[in-house]
Amino acid sequence: MSATQAPERLEFKTELKQLLDLIIHSLYTKKEIFLRELISNAADAIDKARFEGLKHPELLEGDTNWRIKLTVYKDAGTLMVSDNGIGMSREAVVQDLGTIARSGTKAFIENLKQADVKDRPDLIGQFGVGFYSSFMAAERVTVVTRAAGSTEAVKWESDGQGEFTIETADRPSRGTDVILHLREDAKEFLDPYRLRQIVKQYSDFIEHPIVMDVESVIGDDKTEVKEETFNSRQAIWLRNKNEVKPEEYTEFYKSIGRDFEDPLKVIHVSAEGGATDFKALMFIPAHRPMDFFYKEPKSGLDLYVKRVLIQHESEELLPTYLRFVKGVVDAADLPLNVSRETLQHHPLLAKIKSNLINRVLKTLGEMKDGEYENYLKFYKEFGVTLKEGVPQDWSNKERIADLLLFESTKTKPGEYTTLAKYVEAMPAEQKEIHYIIGETRQQIENSPYLESFKAKGEEVLLLTEPIDEFVMSTIGEYKGKKIQAADRGEVEKKEDARFEGLLKVLAAKLPRVKEVRLSGRLKESAAVLVTDEHGPSAHFERIMKRAGRSGELPESKRILELNPDHPAVTSLLTLFEKSPTDDRIDAFGHLLYEEAVIAEGSKIDDIAGFAKRLNDLIVKASA
Ligand code: ADP
Repeated sequence: MSATQAPERLEFKTELKQLLDLIIHSLYTKKEIFLRELISNAADAIDKARFEGLKHPELLEGDTNWRIKLTVYKDAGTLMVSDNGIGMSREAVVQDLGTIARSGTKAFIENLKQADVKDRPDLIGQFGVGFYSSFMAAERVTVVTRAAGSTEAVKWESDGQGEFTIETADRPSRGTDVILHLREDAKEFLDPYRLRQIVKQYSDFIEHPIVMDVESVIGDDKTEVKEETFNSRQAIWLRNKNEVKPEEYTEFYKSIGRDFEDPLKVIHVSAEGGATDFKALMFIPAHRPMDFFYKEPKSGLDLYVKRVLIQHESEELLPTYLRFVKGVVDAADLPLNVSRETLQHHPLLAKIKSNLINRVLKTLGEMKDGEYENYLKFYKEFGVTLKEGVPQDWSNKERIADLLLFESTKTKPGEYTTLAKYVEAMPAEQKEIHYIIGETRQQIENSPYLESFKAKGEEVLLLTEPIDEFVMSTIGEYKGKKIQAADRGEVEKKEDARFEGLLKVLAAKLPRVKEVRLSGRLKESAAVLVTDEHGPSAHFERIMKRAGRSGELPESKRILELNPDHPAVTSLLTLFEKSPTDDRIDAFGHLLYEEAVIAEGSKIDDIAGFAKRLNDLIVKASA
């Protein structure tokens, strides 16, 4: 396409316009953050160019004078942010600036609309707005960009109202100019002093110089224009811990984490002299980003070698169960031209990784013991993610288990115990750690499975996350105590020869029951269904059913346990002793079974049969 042709008009992806409106109006009081976002993008683009240049130096055409330049055109009322980074091809411009390439956008917009106006900035911060924040300050944005290695530039333009245009343009060399046509109420961004102050506040640590030509008066009527560098460019992670101010950490975090809120915890590591020489600056965010569970699990750490970004969101630095940790790692001993493939098996990185895991787990442990309120905040946001570590990271299984919090029959709702506290409070004669899993605390804490434990005063952990089943069976044992589901296996064998015949007959009549036996776990209820040691639990079957995947499970049979002291059960025995072939034995047996199905939180398969049996009973009892 030649430059004389009319520009092509394209539409934003549907949700974008709505989102832009919300962003512009909600972030109004913080509108200067657009500059931080644009500078971050420019710095990323430079990092990419520099990295590509390591392998293909010709791509850089001799220009390695990395810089991000701010220019104001007072008369035109525009501010330009330029970089000599990697640039964008036409396809990249359409793709990257025309979509919000995130899943969950729709849900996010709904959330945002419903949220209180004052909470919106935080929500948006968690979602990350990047380039689009420009429209808070600009009524129109023009982007002129030329990709490294290409001779053609493109010009993109939009007023953020749903459409953008794109056409061929000129740019003398690689890089990107973002030109903001400032709104009437955003003219403050034409003032170099204001710009310098914003750069200092939000982007001071950016490694590349952020420069501007600033005019100053030098004597009578004389002025001089000099290029000033606004940022101090100190890689904050390389500095000495006690020289970094808390607010410097905070601003750095907000910038790399694209967050508006302060982090819950800062972990600054400087490992020198030992087997590995590296620095790491890690943060535990206070909130889960909006898209945390929609996104593919990715690491939150960027890998640098001597301040040069080597890999964004590096998988080699932390396992996915610690993906909530954000930050940077600088490994001085890695070669700069290390490739993605060698990164994967690099022994140095393996060492750094285990060191980092260690630091994070240690910090979480210290928070749990010393700053419980903060730990609770963390746990509510990321506890489920942390749990993934139990099956994932075998070598740290115990340490992770120690970080888990549980509600139990002895805690109030919303209060927690730990495995350590549980074991400490265990009566001497108790052999196992009991737990039960279900939908809600209310549903499980009243379940018949807990009757005998309650009677004995033994604590039962109450679990409600789908992952808990897997986590508990993987932990398996804690401090030599077996971890045992309350609805599994046999609690105190009970035998009574009088029941033998009845139990056999019922086992033959009932569906999905492989055995009927007397129960040691019931005190008030008449019947309960249990799983043997190895079968899938009822909870797990319900999860699979809801996910439409019950076909993947073999049909499992349960064990029906009857309470030999319950009048309903003893009456049935009396009936059986009088007349073993009485029709009512079948009907009453089914009713006991169905009662147990409901008690475990599952649904009865044969609702019509159940209703008939119950109705018959009402009719007879009322006659
Ligand atoms: P994010 O930076 O979070 O990915 P943005 O909306 O800020 O989201 O930017 C979208 C994409 O556009 C970036 O990921 C990048 O690929 C591209 N981009 C933005 N600004 C620049 C720039 N100055 N140079 C090169 N590419 C850019």
